[in-house]
Amino acid sequence: MSKITTKAIRINEVGPPEVMKYLDVELGEPGPGEVLIRQKACGLNYIDIYFRSGYYPQPLPGGIGMEGSGIIEKLGSGVEHVKVGDRVAYAGRPTGAYAEARIMPADILVKLPDAISFETGAGMMMQGLTVQYLLNDVYKVQKGDTVLFHAICGGVGLIALQWLKVVGANVIGTVSSKEKADIAKSYGCDHVILYRDEDFVARVKEITAGKGVAVAYDAVGKDTFMKTLDCISPRGMAVTFGNASGSVPPLDLSLLGTKGSLRVCRPTIASYVLNRSLLEPMAVDLFNRVTSGQVKIEIKQVYALADAVQAHRDLEGRKTTGTSVLIP
Ligand code: NDP
Repeated sequence: MSKITTKAIRINEVGPPEVMKYLDVELGEPGPGEVLIRQKACGLNYIDIYFRSGYYPQPLPGGIGMEGSGIIEKLGSGVEHVKVGDRVAYAGRPTGAYAEARIMPADILVKLPDAISFETGAGMMMQGLTVQYLLNDVYKVQKGDTVLFHAICGGVGLIALQWLKVVGANVIGTVSSKEKADIAKSYGCDHVILYRDEDFVARVKEITAGKGVAVAYDAVGKDTFMKTLDCISPRGMAVTFGNASGSVPPLDLSLLGTKGSLRVCRPTIASYVLNRSLLEPMAVDLFNRVTSGQVKIEIKQVYALADAVQAHRDLEGRKTTGTSVLIP
């Protein structure tokens, strides 16, 4: 049987963006539970930087990328929920999404509705499913809740902002620049804090008349998390779900008592997408929000797959806003 050759990004070592190489890669045949997918678009996510830099370990040489959309070309044995020719999208491990075609486990694939383009599908799965579980499962945001969301102009942030406004929350968002603040305001952010220039704890206290927020979502990590705890009202919740600035320091749990019976959660999307009974209703909710226009997936940067190095420089350099995709 003739081997399929595809273009893909591979890394032999961890390090700066330049460790990513655009290569010809040979694909085998899909094994049990696997599919061969011809990809139309790949998502760009901050987690890709963790893997490329070695912050999250993986066997090397290896692939990069955890999100994509495309058409199923071949099925391995035992795959039943998708068929050849289906339009599909996914977010999750294993890495290797930065590719024209790939062989991957079928269990994280969902069918993409016809009304959603491949670009949007590739851009929305990781960030959109994350927002879905953050706002519904980790903490059920209610109308009238005041919510602090860091880096609100990023990919996850702009989706969360729109979704929170549909729910009826009062949203306090942080950003690093005036340009990002203007974008956040244009999406309805009620209060925007420039957290590199202003003391965000003092501003949150001021905005909430000293009460603090019901829930704070923090994926910035090291630079913000300990201060984020000071923004939360008694019995409120802090959600630490990422490390864009580095790891959150070890937490003395007794602090949660002195700060007012706070709850803390450290969720990860893997716990959701690997369970189809969770994944399927989450995806339906996300697709409905998008097709109804409640949540727009703002693809603000489109790169050729071959330009993944530049895409990583921009994401890491805080130059991007909203969602970014790579086109094979
Ligand atoms: P973003 O588009 O939000 O980009 C990251 C943003 O973080 C930047 O734009 C920047 O916004 C902010 N930031 C703060 N400090 C730094 C720093 N030192 N270096 C770089 N950026 C910094 O990325 P994503 O939407 O892909 O992901 C957002 C976060 O959510 C990430 O931390 C990611 O790991 C996490 N995540 C977690 C998931 C989970 O299941 N746990 C799933 C998906 C994402 P600004 O310039 O405004 O400060």
